Amino acid sequence: MLSPARNRLTIPLLLLASTAAPVFWALPEDLPPLRSLGIILGWAGCGMLFGSLLLMLRETWLSHWLGGLAGMYRWHHRAGVIAYVVLLAHPLALAADSLPAFPDLAWQTLSPFANGWAVRLGWLSLLLLMFGLAATFASRIPYRIWRWLHAALGIGVVLGLGHLLQLGIDEPVLPLLALAVLLLAWRFIRDDAGLAARPYIVRSATPIADGVVEISLRPLAQPIAADAGQFVLVAFHSGAGFRGCGQFHPFTISSIAGDGEIRIGVKALGDCTRHLQSIATGVPARVHGAFGHFLAGRPTTAQLWLAGGIGVTPFVALLRGGPLHQPTTLIYLYRSETDAAYLRELQTLAATDRLLSLHAHATGEEPPDLASLLPASHDLSNRECHVCGPPAMVAAVRKALCQRGITARHIHFENFDFR
Ligand SMILES: Cc1cc2nc3c(=O)[nH]c(=O)nc-3n(C[C@H](O)[C@H](O)[C@H](O)COP(=O)(O)OP(=O)(O)OC[C@H]3O[C@@H](n4cnc5c(N)ncnc54)[C@H](O)[C@@H]3O)c2cc1C
Repeated sequence: MLSPARNRLTIPLLLLASTAAPVFWALPEDLPPLRSLGIILGWAGCGMLFGSLLLMLRETWLSHWLGGLAGMYRWHHRAGVIAYVVLLAHPLALAADSLPAFPDLAWQTLSPFANGWAVRLGWLSLLLLMFGLAATFASRIPYRIWRWLHAALGIGVVLGLGHLLQLGIDEPVLPLLALAVLLLAWRFIRDDAGLAARPYIVRSATPIADGVVEISLRPLAQPIAADAGQFVLVAFHSGAGFRGCGQFHPFTISSIAGDGEIRIGVKALGDCTRHLQSIATGVPARVHGAFGHFLAGRPTTAQLWLAGGIGVTPFVALLRGGPLHQPTTLIYLYRSETDAAYLRELQTLAATDRLLSLHAHATGEEPPDLASLLPASHDLSNRECHVCGPPAMVAAVRKALCQRGITARHIHFENFDFR
């Protein structure tokens, strides 16, 4: 596993390099300062967008190198926003350069109606980027629609490069255009179309709580390499009287067998996961991964694990892997006993593993009262804390742990949501 400092720095340094490279390549010479600034901003925005495109790739080696998919996605969004702001400033700086002497030229630089296809494509690109970014942060939009809106960003990038070609600039535009097309095609073919995934088949599907089914997947070829607590992207296809939703969704591995068979617990949280509750044996699936290192490299000190709902799966995977080596308290929060997946199994494990202390609580429909559920500060000192579940719960627990004096580097978390 990477050291935390390297984890934190790798992506910002990568983005810095991708921003600086085109700026140095196309650094303007002997131009007025504002014009130079305008040109530099344009190339810096392009470079940042390329860094952002690289961060949307879902490759196990890349995510391992860059510290995990969740971090990559966070920076993918941040880089997109920074690139957009920088690119918006690009025409403004160019117009500001001509404004004092040639106000008409300044207007022509900005007006999408006045200056032919070069400027029109530039504005169209900025509009699509704005549109795509607005969608990125609109978390209420259904995921399927969100993905299409988000794809507007990719088209925006290609149109932006078209804007440069129309201006007659082909160095370094053509290599950048080729790179952009390569990255977008890579993402589409390897990740969305599933070329990077391995074939599996559903061996069994067992309901384990209200709206939760545990699916066993048997590999049909070389199985993926995975550790307990990691997650995979799985797409279920049609077969054996079942129509799969075909799209890749992230699920945590709840157990790994020696022969490569994996199990995932799927909670009905939306259209596809609701439909998966009735999946049948024999349905083909593709599995891509594994990703994440939420529970990897745990020190031998005492642990506090806190799970919200189906966020219990990484802990279940670890406990199924064998007895614990350090005192561990697992606080498991769920709405009601009937939708508490794996509860019986956890109770049995806690009865046989003296290092495991299980605190299971039905919290009802209201947000849990963390003040009464979390151990006191003195019981938390020297503990490594791992939190997994819905984003709102994870955020509330992190805040409560910080208030009890736990520093951020001792709090590890996995949000069951990334866009
Ligand atoms: C790292 C991680 C591990 C997870 N592990 C589990 C697990 O073990 N068991 C489990 O039941 N659920 C798990 N989830 C949540 C699960 O992925 C979503 O519930 C599922 O994708 C919802 O799909 P849907 O079409 O049914 O719902 P939708 O209504 O389409 O989506 C509901 C929400 O799920 C998220 N989502 C949907 N599709 C995707 C996708 N392709 N990629 C990323 N997020 C998506 C979106 O935030 C969306 O708003 C995990 C999520 C993450 C990020």
